[in-house]
Amino acid sequence: MDLLKEKILKEGIAVNENILKVDSFLNHQVDTKLMIEIGKNFAAYFQSKNIDKVVTIEASGIAPAFTTANFLNVPLVIFKKQHSSILNHDLFETTVHSFTKNSDYKLTASKKFLKENENILMIDDFLANGEAVLGTSRILNAAKCNLQGVGIVIEKSFQPGRNKLENAGLDVYSLARIAKLGNGIIEFI
Ligand code: 5GP
Repeated sequence: MDLLKEKILKEGIAVNENILKVDSFLNHQVDTKLMIEIGKNFAAYFQSKNIDKVVTIEASGIAPAFTTANFLNVPLVIFKKQHSSILNHDLFETTVHSFTKNSDYKLTASKKFLKENENILMIDDFLANGEAVLGTSRILNAAKCNLQGVGIVIEKSFQPGRNKLENAGLDVYSLARIAKLGNGIIEFI
């Protein structure tokens, strides 16, 4: 998606060889017009998959997931991060390793909002090692939902996420795919 790539080149900051900072338009300040274009693009790509719900993980996936769900005309379900263990029989729960924080968190979703056989699209801001998507997929399996696709705003293709998700049989569609990050360097595939 050219508009997104231009924005990344103009405002993205490679913090080091592994982390891209995009807090001026994606996950701190939000460019709402860009989010609308992102939502249109994901909705067009996944239109034929009969999606019943879009899911994402709080907080940085919410903006692109919201616009995607709006264009697909379906609800958005936001999976929650809990930093201590909680025992609640009304929730699905799994442990996920956070790439940016290098620590584990519990990912949870209410059983109320995931029904058997629903077709689900997951949207997230970044794909790095794929742990966030795999955790989401475990919850959807427990709910007997069908994960029909994964939409990623920025994929860091030099990290193992895409391979892991493809090996798990998932359809991964990324709007920008980064080949290399470094001091002042952002290169796309
Ligand atoms: P994964 O689970 O694929 O290893 O990491 C995905 C999650 O880590 C994303 O939801 C995102 O919040 C965060 N993340 C991974 N890489 C980056 C990055 O380069 N920049 C930012 N801002 N977040 C990242």
